[in-house]
Amino acid sequence: MTALLDVRHLNVVFDGFRAVTDLDFSVAPGELRFVIGPNGAGKTTLIDCITGRTKSTSGSITFDGQELVGQREHRIVRMGIGRTFQTSVVFEELTVGENLDLAASFRRPLVTLLRRRKGYPDDVARVLETTGLAGLVEHKAGVLSHGQRQWLEIGMLMVQQPRLLLLDEPVAGMSREERERTGQLLVDIATTHTVVVVEHDMEFLRRFASVVTVLHEGRLLCQGTVAEVQADPRVQEVYLGRSRKEVVDAGS
Ligand code: ADP
Ligand code: MG
Repeated sequence: MTALLDVRHLNVVFDGFRAVTDLDFSVAPGELRFVIGPNGAGKTTLIDCITGRTKSTSGSITFDGQELVGQREHRIVRMGIGRTFQTSVVFEELTVGENLDLAASFRRPLVTLLRRRKGYPDDVARVLETTGLAGLVEHKAGVLSHGQRQWLEIGMLMVQQPRLLLLDEPVAGMSREERERTGQLLVDIATTHTVVVVEHDMEFLRRFASVVTVLHEGRLLCQGTVAEVQADPRVQEVYLGRSRKEVVDAGS
């Protein structure tokens, strides 16, 4: 199948430091792909390059056949790529519904924004259901739990109707129950969208991932099913080797 997203020979150098080296990464339409790797592996840099936030040093990134390198961030959003950040972007003083409405307004003609309406438009109502936030629609975003806030952010992406969603560590800091709900939400979203999720919690991966891409020091280390990457000695070395070192560091 033709890839929806196709990254070829991507290189990113920051002041002489190679953050990404000769990376190939491609995602087929409708995939739910997980990307893992230790801190500093280049996961966020990869997302930043796809979304036009960071300039690559060389390489090509195509989305549905169109080159993204050199395009501006807002143009890439309009082409149908949405992303979350590691830090929150919700408006705390607005309600859940208002945050979604505002995010959705990005796609609507100005005239519909000026029209007085009752309730929420269909696209917002749908996302309220999908994300399980319908009961919190009138709550200010500032009072949401960490998990609810993440779901709101994912909802704010969905109302913009992207074809590809890039989620950077969406379950970081979540409780077990919130992780489970998020995993179900991602599986749900992936039935109608293509989704790339950066996440390193192995239990979460075992539960929800099919294909996993492992990055290490800016390079592709391996790719395969969860069982395959877990059995790969290089992955064990990268993860277990590091955790042993951390244990030693913590004890010194
Ligand atoms: P990850 O998300 O996998 O933890 P990042 O993509 O954030 O890793 O970072 C990869 C490497 O690039 C890290 O060593 C990081 O310090 C470095 N890096 C990221 N962004 C910049 C930047 N703007 N300037 C310099 N170095 C950066
Ligand atoms: Mg990161």
